[in-house]
Amino acid sequence: MTYLWIGIALVGVTASVVAIRSFRPAPLPAPEPWTGPLPGASPPGDMTIHQLPTGTYDSRAALAYRGGSFSDVRKFAATAVLVRHPAGDLLIDAGFGSDVDAHLATLPSFQRTPHHLGVTVRDQLRAGDYDLAGLRGVVITHAHWDHVSGLADLDVPIWMNEAEARYVERDKGAAVFRDVARGREIHRYTFDGPPYLGFPASHDVHGDGSVVLVEAGGHTDGSVVVFVTLPDGRRFAFIGDLTWQVEGVTLRAERPGPLRMLADVQPAKVRDGLLRIIALRDRVHVVPAHDVHAYDPIPHWVVSDRRVG
Ligand SMILES: [Zn+2]
Repeated sequence: MTYLWIGIALVGVTASVVAIRSFRPAPLPAPEPWTGPLPGASPPGDMTIHQLPTGTYDSRAALAYRGGSFSDVRKFAATAVLVRHPAGDLLIDAGFGSDVDAHLATLPSFQRTPHHLGVTVRDQLRAGDYDLAGLRGVVITHAHWDHVSGLADLDVPIWMNEAEARYVERDKGAAVFRDVARGREIHRYTFDGPPYLGFPASHDVHGDGSVVLVEAGGHTDGSVVVFVTLPDGRRFAFIGDLTWQVEGVTLRAERPGPLRMLADVQPAKVRDGLLRIIALRDRVHVVPAHDVHAYDPIPHWVVSDRRVG
């Protein structure tokens, strides 16, 4: 009899564990897919993009998106993207720079997770004989440390909008930015263009539709999405931290509630932006800044995985 009760109890516990393990929080409601025309673009034939990974840091999937597993440790990318264009090249974000250890030390201890340091953007550009005179600036998706650390090594203008300029003045999340931006030229752009793929306003950098910045605030005040269209017709959306991993798009799984409150200045706006991106997922290749594999279709600038010197 006792064995029977133990057996029943075991079945009950097993069923509970299975139920908990297979629990999936409800995804965000599916937005209508974008079926309209894609905005016109005439990128020059010699325009190219390249990825420059500068390192990774560890984070658990459970903290990255709703329904993620606690035992699934993700390598969060700190990767810059070089967009080469005859009218002047741009970097999207700057990755980890040579002072990254000092930048990590400024974080609260719970945010300092194991990390791997690769080669800085500056050293990768040098290794590829890149002429820095061709670099018009670094467009930051937003001003958090893991996107701007490498600015310290690059004496080129930092492209940012009015709302982000306000954010960096007041928010403790921009402490590293304030440090690395000291003495740097700020190139202030405005969203002077029309709505773009569901986003309310845009800025067409070269005037040919090849690189278009859109307003997607909420993670920080002035966070942006950078749309890039290549001469072969492929389109990319560099969405910064609208979601930290691609499951934000593929599973419509936003950040877990407490993390939304912690990480986003306006969580509801982040959700709006994420839904706009989800509506585009069949038309545009979406690159969440920290998803290592989202960069797979983008060729490396130089291949190296160890810090020089
Ligand atoms: Zn980030």
